[in-house]
Amino acid sequence: MRLSSLSPHPHHHHHYTTHYHYHYHHPSSLAMDGHRRIDKVVVIMGATGSGKSRLSIDLATLFPFSEIINSDKMQVYKGLDTTTNKIPPHQRNNVPHHLLGDVDPSLGDFTPSDFRRRAGDLISDITRRRKLPIFVGGSNSFVHALLVDRFDPESNVFRDDSPSPVSSELRYRCCFLWMDIAFPVLSEYLLKRVDDMLDSGMVDELAQFFDSDTANQTGLRKAIGVPEFDRFFKDPVREGAAYEEAVRAIKENTCQLAKRQIGKIMRLKRAGWDLRRIDATEAFRVALVADGGGERFSDEWKRQVLEPSVKIVKRFLME
Ligand code: ATP
Repeated sequence: MRLSSLSPHPHHHHHYTTHYHYHYHHPSSLAMDGHRRIDKVVVIMGATGSGKSRLSIDLATLFPFSEIINSDKMQVYKGLDTTTNKIPPHQRNNVPHHLLGDVDPSLGDFTPSDFRRRAGDLISDITRRRKLPIFVGGSNSFVHALLVDRFDPESNVFRDDSPSPVSSELRYRCCFLWMDIAFPVLSEYLLKRVDDMLDSGMVDELAQFFDSDTANQTGLRKAIGVPEFDRFFKDPVREGAAYEEAVRAIKENTCQLAKRQIGKIMRLKRAGWDLRRIDATEAFRVALVADGGGERFSDEWKRQVLEPSVKIVKRFLME
């Protein structure tokens, strides 16, 4: 079964005739805070598989002055496009994407500090061109590193025993959209998504990855799928049981990742980050039916996800 509903389809946008405009001549993005100018950014958060990419394309289509910056720590690297679930170019609706497959994985780990610097430069550049940066990706350590006023690369604020609490002092004006889906529905969706990814050539992609000089591709070695399939490819027999075991481990690790990501998001919320929760559970329930829900999915997505998000972003841009 294909879960295509959640992939952005450019033709879906024909329903919308309204495009919102940014007031360039009176840039509210450059509001004065004391003597500092603070740029505005939209940040889409949510566990893996929660529809962030689709929402980002929908928003960037309705607010056509937007540019998307990826904040998924595995999708920043070049390579493993299927395994890391990068949004394919034909689904990007011509929206400019940054830090998506731009980093050479042989240069080692792209750290939260690297992200803070690179994404910070991108925000300055995009804002200077009077465009709106939209962040999309599940790596909350990246989002945290980017946004906090003072970032300490030495302290991992997400560890349970972390002595330093998460700061709520941010260096940008942020509009946080948190895609939330009831966990049983999300996990059912994630299991199906893994099957879809396997059908779309994930194993071939990993086979080529292991054939290439993987020792140099350090950045990607932790992507879900790599360690799990490592054993299968090393096995000269490559029998069915080893394959099934790899698939089982990927499903399990994907659900664990989602759970950890939700924990981190709640931590940010408890620290006072103004996350606006978008409950997409019903839309996902519809997407899980045999044919992907068709029209019913689009209706539910619009009602539950897109309309509330558009309202929140519009208000944010007028502030
Ligand atoms: P951590 O501090 O645990 O790395 P994080 O918030 O910085 O968390 P996450 O995005 O939650 O980053 O990623 C944690 C791990 O989950 C990654 O190191 C990787 O193993 C896996 N992972 C995350 N995103 C992907 C992806 N797109 N494809 C494959 N694996 C991923």
